[in-house]
Order: sequence, then structure tokens, then C-alpha cells
Amino acid sequence: MKAVKEKSWCPSVQEMLRLAEKLDIETVWCRYEAQLPQCGFGELGTCCHNCLQGPCRIDPFGEGPQKGVCGANADTIVARNLARAIAAGTSAHSGHAKHLAHTLLAWAEGKAPDYPVKDEAKLKAVATRLGIPVDGKDVQELAKEVAEAALLEFSEKATPLAWVATTVTRGRVEKAIQYNVVPTGIDSVVSEVLHRTSYGVDADPVNILFGGVKCALADFAGCHMATDLADILFGTPKPVVTTANMGVLKPDAVNVALHGHNPLLSDLIVQVAPEMESEARAAGASGINLMGICCTGNEVLMRHGIPPVTHSVSQEMVIMTGALDAMVVDYQCVMPSLATMAECFHTKLITTMPIAKVPGATHIEFKEEEARERAREILRLAIEAFKKRDPAKVHIPNYVHKAYAGFSTEAIIEALAQVNKEDPLKPLIDNIVAGNILGVCLFAGCNNVKIPQDSAFLTVAKELARNNVFLLASGCAAGAFARHGLLTPEATEEYAGDGLKAVLTAIGKAVGLGGPLPLILHIGSCVDNSRAADIAVAVANRLGVDIDKLPVVASAPEATTEKAIAIGTWAVTAGLPTHVGFVPPVLGSPLVSRILTQDIKGIFGGYFIVETDPSKAAEKLLEAIRERRKGLGL
Ligand code: SF4
Ligand code: SF4
Repeated sequence: MKAVKEKSWCPSVQEMLRLAEKLDIETVWCRYEAQLPQCGFGELGTCCHNCLQGPCRIDPFGEGPQKGVCGANADTIVARNLARAIAAGTSAHSGHAKHLAHTLLAWAEGKAPDYPVKDEAKLKAVATRLGIPVDGKDVQELAKEVAEAALLEFSEKATPLAWVATTVTRGRVEKAIQYNVVPTGIDSVVSEVLHRTSYGVDADPVNILFGGVKCALADFAGCHMATDLADILFGTPKPVVTTANMGVLKPDAVNVALHGHNPLLSDLIVQVAPEMESEARAAGASGINLMGICCTGNEVLMRHGIPPVTHSVSQEMVIMTGALDAMVVDYQCVMPSLATMAECFHTKLITTMPIAKVPGATHIEFKEEEARERAREILRLAIEAFKKRDPAKVHIPNYVHKAYAGFSTEAIIEALAQVNKEDPLKPLIDNIVAGNILGVCLFAGCNNVKIPQDSAFLTVAKELARNNVFLLASGCAAGAFARHGLLTPEATEEYAGDGLKAVLTAIGKAVGLGGPLPLILHIGSCVDNSRAADIAVAVANRLGVDIDKLPVVASAPEATTEKAIAIGTWAVTAGLPTHVGFVPPVLGSPLVSRILTQDIKGIFGGYFIVETDPSKAAEKLLEAIRERRKGLGL
């Protein structure tokens, strides 16, 4: 069995892993070890079960079969599997966006009174960007038109997706037209990928990969739409300060974790929790203590400062503290094992979405029309569970770090405007030109059980910061940094190179922090990677160059989900060198591997950097940034 340090670098998780060993409790790491060795065909991407004549497997050593029953070779199979993963990721992000669009429409039609538009300015900005006239319309009318425009994006249209065409540079639009990868409907492009990769359709690996790229652009649309609509409904985030890691659990409070991705229910729970305080106190608790996990956690952190307790691969550990009274989940990244873990404790696992049930969990179906009441019902269940808590089983690791979050695009531009009101991007651009900032890196993605949790994030980020790279983070990447104290001004003092420190200090002082901005800016959940894209697009437009010329890179060193594959593909299509810290299931096709890591650079400018050693990954990202600087004559 691996030592705890090889499983996680998070001190809370290490402590819980020691406890799990002592109590003989099964965790995700046990199940991973039980799976070893994992199937080599699956790892290489050369297994196909797209028809009932399979499964077919291609022998990587050239001694066994080189073709499936239908004649598909390794290149076709690997490309098809990859395209299907992109389609799955796209369906998840855009399903989340569609849900928000339906809610906005329901409110506009008077059917969801709990969801009034909170950010009218954002509603108007989005409408204007989409070409919807705003003058003379009341909020309901405009919300209805924006929601309808959003829902129109899902089926096939005669025109490109508005959430792509109006949000990227002109240069990217032209590239998409040139290579025939313009998506005209989110659901229709997902369906097209499933069609072309089904039995006996597209056998050309290059053609299939372009289909995957088109789908990834639809994923970008879904992500951007989800960000826009969540901001309209719940407010555009502004900087907040909170604490992170398992020490945020309170031994005397009703502890409730909000987990999944969509803020629709979790935001309502945050809103009604104060009303339920007296009921919690009547049950003997000090109050209700909400905390977040994964991207639902990020949504309520960004807008309400709700502390993140843990992320991704360590989600089971929160139940194991014996102090969690309820875990409320919506959809995505929710491990089915949570129900088994909850059985060993008093914790109520509460599923809320009709498409995401877990055997063993209590299901309280979320309905927009009665969202507030459902939120109260859920908190009442948590209060009931609190009464059954066994104090002998409580073990809360005492680790917390301060964390700053809430850096939406608007908040970042506002901060920069404190330095230069007329031209907010100028300070950023001037410092990149002067070399005080070498470049920009966006960290995204999950934790992955195959990599010691957080190790790659911490190693790559510290090295880039030392080399004056301006850092942004989303999703569980941001969560990892929060749990290790890297989302703080103190981390800037400790880890930033001199140039970066001077810039972050100047901006931090201008916004009244009295010191530097945090080392890494938390931009939100996974769909909020669109915020980083917005900043890159704004800088590119301001400089009059396309994104693929900017010294901007991305890194997902510990990614897990199909959604991460979709995001990585649109980042590459947007023109970014994009690091992944695991070997994706494509090595079974040298052709596909070469296209993704080399040939695609000549088409879109971006490319994948596959590097499992985090120190080497940092070097490669720095090299990519320097190459871009050279291209700009810097
Ligand atoms: S589609 Fe072809 S390669 Fe895939 S399972 Fe069927 S016969 Fe085998
Ligand atoms: S980063 Fe990955 S694990 Fe975390 S919430 Fe997003 S998709 Fe899920």
C-alpha cells in the first residue's frame, strides 16, 4: 500500500487516510489499488465497443490484431474514443447551462419566483453582446429574450453559435470557418459526434478529430453561457475572503456540504440558511455551517464566501470526519461511493436532480417553482441528522487557510481600472511588455487518484510564480490552491518572483488591500474557464493580435473528467499551449498523438503538452511562454 504522501499532499486528507487505515474504511485510493494493473488497451485508447460485434482491441506491439472486426484500425478507434469523450464533456457543461436558461425563462414567465435577476447590468451586457436591443425593455422582457436566445443555441441553427461568435476574436472565428468546425447547435453537434463515431460511419481519424474540435467549441459555448446566466441569476462575483480545508467543519454546528456543479439549488440553500438558524439552535447546535465541495462549492464561494472543505478525489473524507450532517449533491463529479461512506456515519447524502440519483441516498427532487421550500426541507433533514451525530466518531483535521476568491472578469478589470481608469488592460499589457510579467497561466481541472493529490498543482504553480507568471485558477485547481494557502497575499510575498510581486503589490495597493493581490486569482468553477478566455480575448483585441500569439498557457496537471478533455480541446483550439499531467488514452495511435501535440499547432496555434513530471512541465510551459514572447518581439 502507498504511503499517504503518495496519495495526497493535503494535510487534512493525509490525516483522514491514516484514520481510514486504522478503522479499515475503504476509500477511493483503496479501490484504485484494487484496479491495478489497469487495462493496457483502455490506457492506450485502443479498445472499441461501439457495436455489438466487439469489444475489439488493437495489439500495440503489432503481434496481435491490428484491426477490429469491422476493419477499424487504432487511429480510427483512438480518434473516435477521444471525440466521444469531448461530446460527453460538452453535454455536461451545456446541460448545466441549459438548466440555468430554463430557470431564467421560468422566472421571466412568472413560474420561478425564487430566481429574480440579481445582476441587471450583466443581463444587459449579455443581451447587447448577443445583438438583442435592450432599450425600453423591462427586466422580465429582456431576461425572456436572453433565455430564449440561450435555448435556441441547443438545436441546429442556420447561423454559428452566438456564444462562440460573439465571445472570441475575429481571428478565431475565421480559423473555425477555414477548417469547417463552426458549431451551429450545441446538442446537434454532440449528436453529430455520436453519429459519426458509431458503427460504420466516419473512419478517417483526421476528420473525426476535426469533429471533436467542433464539439469542443460547442463546449466553450456551453461553459460561457453557464457563466453568463449564473451571473445574471445570482450576481457577478466580487472579491471575497474565506477559509479553506477541513478545519472549516465546526464540531458544534449543523455542518452541510454543497457538492456538484450547478448553483441553482445551492445558492437557495445559502439564502435560506440564516432563516433556519433558530431551528438548528433548538436542536442543540450553534447554528448552520455551510461549506462547498467541487464546483458547486466554487459557485457559492465566489458569490457568498462559503468556505470550501475539500475537492474532487477527497470528497469521501468529509463524511469520514463524522461531523458532516448532510451532503447535498446536484450533478457531476459526485462519486457513488459517498452513499457507502455515509452508511458508516450519521451523514445524510441527499441527491436532488432527477438525472443524478445514487442508490442509498435520500432523494429530494429539486423544482424551480418551489426551490426555497425544497432548500428548507433539505436543511431540516440536516438538522435531524445532527441530533444523531455520534461524538465518539468525530475527527476534524485542524487545517485551514485563508483564501481570496471572487475574481470574475469584471472584478479583475475593475481592479486594473484602479491603476488606469481609461485603459484598464494597459497596466497588465505594459508589465508583460516590460517583462515584469513573463506571461499568464490558467490552471484548471480536477484531482486524479493516479497523481498524489495537489502535488502537480503546487509544484507547477510555485515554479511559474517564481518565474513571474501571472496565475489564474478555476475548478478544483483553484480548490487545491485554496487548501494550501496559495490564494493569499502572503503566498505572493513568499513565492512570486520580484517582477510579479511588484505588479501584484501595485494593483493590491490600488484596490485598498494594503499589500499584494493573492498569488493566484480564483476565477470560479470549471465553466468559468470562460472568464479566463474573456480576459485573453480582451488582451488580444486590445493588442490587435490573435490569442495564439499571446504568452498565455493553460495547465490541467491532475485532470480526471471528460469535461476536462473538452475544455483542454477548446483551450488548444483557442490557441493556447495546454499542459496535461497524465497520459491521455491516445498513445495507441501515434498519428493521433502527433496531431494533438504537434500538427495542431500549425492549424490553431495551440497544442497539448503531455508531461507527467511537474517540474519538467513547468519548464515546458515557460518555454512555450518564451517562444510566444519572442514571436511578439519581446
Ligand atoms: S465498431 Fe468495429 S472496432 Fe468497434 S466494436 Fe464494432 S466491429 Fe469492433
Ligand atoms: S475540476 Fe474536475 S473534479 Fe473538480 S469539479 Fe471540475 S470537473 Fe469536477
